[in-house]
This record gives sequence, structure tokens and C-alpha cells, in this order.
Amino acid sequence: MAAERLYYTSAQLDSDATVEDIQLVSSDERGQLWQVSLNRSAFYPTGGGQPFDTGVLIATARSGALLEVPVERVEEDERGEVWHYVRKPLLEGAEVQGRVDSARRVDHEQQHSGQHLLSAMFLRELGAPTVSFHLGAESATIDLGVKERPSDEDLARVEEAANRVIAEGRPLTVHWVQPEYAEEMVRRGDLRKLPEREGPIRVVQMQGIEFNACGGTHVNNTGAIGGVVIRRVEKVKQGWRVEFCCGLRAIRAARRDYHLLDGIARTLSVGTKDVPARVAALLEEKKAAAKELKKLKALLPPEA
Ligand SMILES: [Zn+2]
Repeated sequence: MAAERLYYTSAQLDSDATVEDIQLVSSDERGQLWQVSLNRSAFYPTGGGQPFDTGVLIATARSGALLEVPVERVEEDERGEVWHYVRKPLLEGAEVQGRVDSARRVDHEQQHSGQHLLSAMFLRELGAPTVSFHLGAESATIDLGVKERPSDEDLARVEEAANRVIAEGRPLTVHWVQPEYAEEMVRRGDLRKLPEREGPIRVVQMQGIEFNACGGTHVNNTGAIGGVVIRRVEKVKQGWRVEFCCGLRAIRAARRDYHLLDGIARTLSVGTKDVPARVAALLEEKKAAAKELKKLKALLPPEA
């Protein structure tokens, strides 16, 4: 039986559960790897461009000692069963407490909800649809299905529009709708696409901005995205890839960039604003010096 997925309806990260099934997956130099299914779980399995949650399962041994088992990975199989991958076996029927790592979850929620918002703003401001989304440990990207690279002015406009919505603190709410109604929403243009899943469809609404058929985890208010910054834009096969970061990632990226720039400025003994001009002047000087060197070498007697 498929587990009750707590993340669908609640932000709860801890939950009591019973081990329903456990199977040995592999055995290698790192030891044994087991997959565990629970009757209920707050752990998000990889899906929709969003990576899995990590955390621990805590069981009580017969001696009364607490056994804390790290969850390395969480995946969903084709039958819709959610599997927690662990390095220690647990007993079938055992009561455990699941605890999701909250820093990782919050980070994913910020990037993922920020992606919904950014995609909605690209569509609204530039008519540019998002064709795919990727969230990694270092970077988050969306691919825009457009031929032309958005100009820097356009990117700045989209970025500011998204940040205004963040500052407005709009609520995000979850609705479960019947497939027929979801199809009607697509016809009306309220939903862009539907997942290939049977039964009721989970629709996430960002108030006044968009509806999105999505099974991922989100913040419950746009304010909690905490800000979005667009970074690199590069050409990919299906259009243009836009790298962005939200919340704490944006703060860390800004801090890292400033330290880098400040370090360069100190090395050059100029203010940060003057770095580009100073670097350009140094390159010119280097070019001139190389020319001079070549000239002087030509004056030397040929080597014996
Ligand atoms: Zn989502």
C-alpha cells in the first residue's frame, strides 16, 4: 500500500511511522544498502525537477537504546511506493520516527517556489514559456523555450517583477482537483500542463499569479522565497538556460561574489568600481610590453 505523503498537505517534518517493508538493495565496500517503505512519510522523493529530502529514521532497540539511521536518498518507484534508502536494516513492523533535514527542505522550497514565480514572470513579461527546470546542490536553472536571448534589460525587469511579488507576501495554497476539472483549467489557460498521473491532481496556487499542477514542496507565502537573483544565461538546444538563486542561496552568492571582487580590487590597489578599467589598462600594458620585448630581442646578436 502506498504511504500517506505528509508533504502533500503539511509542512510537518517529523512524523511517527511504521516500517511496512524493507528490502536489501545492494552490498558493497560501503556496506549494505536497504530500502524501507513506511505507512506515512514526510520525506519528499525525487520528482518534478526537485531532489529528495534527507534526514533520519529513529528506532528504539529492544534494550531501549535509540537507533538513529540516516536516510541517504528517497525515491518513488513506478507503483508510487516511496522508498527511503538506509545503511542499517530495520525490522518490518517497527515503530520509527522520521525526521526530515529542515535546512535542506527549506532551501529546496525556496528554489522550487522561486522557480514557479520566475517562470510565471518570464511568461507574463516576455511571453517566454519554461520548458524544463533543474534544481541541483549548487545551481537552479530553468530553460526558456525562446529563440532569442532575453536582453539584460528584460532580465532585470523579470527579476524585479518577481521580487515585487515576493515582497507582496502572496499566499500559496494547495487544491486537489478532479482530472476533468484540471483539463478544463488547461482549456481556460489557467494551467499550462498536467502530470501523467491517475486520480485527483494537486494544483498549487500562488495567489493572483498562477496555478501549477505540481507535487513538490513549496513555501506557504511568497515572502518566504526571500528574494530571487538571476545569474548566468546560456544557449541550450531547446532555447536559453537561465540560472537563478533564491533566499539564502542568493545571499551566499552575493557574499561570495563580493569577496571575490573585493579580493581582486585589493590586489590591484583600486576600488571595486575601478576594477574593470584597471584590468583593461593592465592588459594593454602587457600587450605593449610584449611588443617591446619582441623588438628588443630582434636587436640581440644571433645565438652562437
Ligand atoms: Zn511546484
